[in-house]
Amino acid sequence: MQENSHIPATDSDVERLVVGVDVGGTKIAAGVVDPYGQVYSRVQLPTDTDGPERTLQSIAAGIEEAILAAGIRKEQIHEVGLGIPGIVDPEHGIGLFSANLGWKNVAVTRWLEDTLRLPCVIENDVSVAALGEHLYGAGQGVHTMLYMSLGTGIAARVVINGRLHRGSHGLAGEIGHTVFVPDGPLCLCGARGCLETLASGPALARLAWEKIQAGHITLLSDLDILKRGEQLTAEHLFAAIAQGDSLSKQIVFEAGAHLAYAVYLLAMSFDPQIIVLGGGLAHEENPLIETVRSEVARWTTRSPVFQEIWAPDMLRLTALKRDAGILGAAALVSASDAIRKL
Ligand SMILES: [Zn+2]
Repeated sequence: MQENSHIPATDSDVERLVVGVDVGGTKIAAGVVDPYGQVYSRVQLPTDTDGPERTLQSIAAGIEEAILAAGIRKEQIHEVGLGIPGIVDPEHGIGLFSANLGWKNVAVTRWLEDTLRLPCVIENDVSVAALGEHLYGAGQGVHTMLYMSLGTGIAARVVINGRLHRGSHGLAGEIGHTVFVPDGPLCLCGARGCLETLASGPALARLAWEKIQAGHITLLSDLDILKRGEQLTAEHLFAAIAQGDSLSKQIVFEAGAHLAYAVYLLAMSFDPQIIVLGGGLAHEENPLIETVRSEVARWTTRSPVFQEIWAPDMLRLTALKRDAGILGAAALVSASDAIRKL
């Protein structure tokens, strides 16, 4: 899939073009972006996860396709920014661990720089999304913001005074792997009862499936996809709620209440100007987002100090939508000097 939308305006803009790359477990999105967040090309191709070398080859192919689709030469690209799932060492350009990609200690930037002859910088994908939202999206002009990604996984990131706050290990904001229910469901990280096991997209589907197996009455049981042996998703629960399904409503409410508690904890910890919700589940007013909004508001009645921090318009949805990954990775290049210094 290729799209070429614009031609660079001036010579100085051309000199500062970057490629932003969003590396996901199933697809790679890449695009050429100028310093103003104008996207000149968008390409998307499947991620080859058949070994680190194959994955790096598919990333390199995405970068070259994005440059080709923008109608420019590789020499015109200033730098490449990449958002990568999992734990990342941006200083040394290493993908330390990624369950989605099957990576452990992969020298990402060295391989890409040797292959492409372009300077590359990497960061964790949620950190990249937070930077993108800060530079080009809902967080423009804001000094302190939290970004929370709700989707297959759950994670938050903190931007303080316009800079990503990584913490000592790059794990600041890992609320998704914070235990909310001791002895709860087993998480991929090895803990029990992490927020991610209670409120992520796969968690909602799993909770519903367990209830169906236990014989609970729900409209979800009638779905054709189950008869075909396909997996439930959170979106099926949202659709069932619109038709009055009480089981789906209960599951989504409990997940939303857990997420609201996470927002409350993060807001109390960092006193941000805004909190931006992004990721696959953070689309316009679905029942999960509505529950998060209403349950966060309830914390003001339980917690007087929170009343000082909170205002209803602080909780916002991502403004970047389909270009979030590409713009975020491009923002990483803008922030790369700051990150290297940390
Ligand atoms: Zn966990």
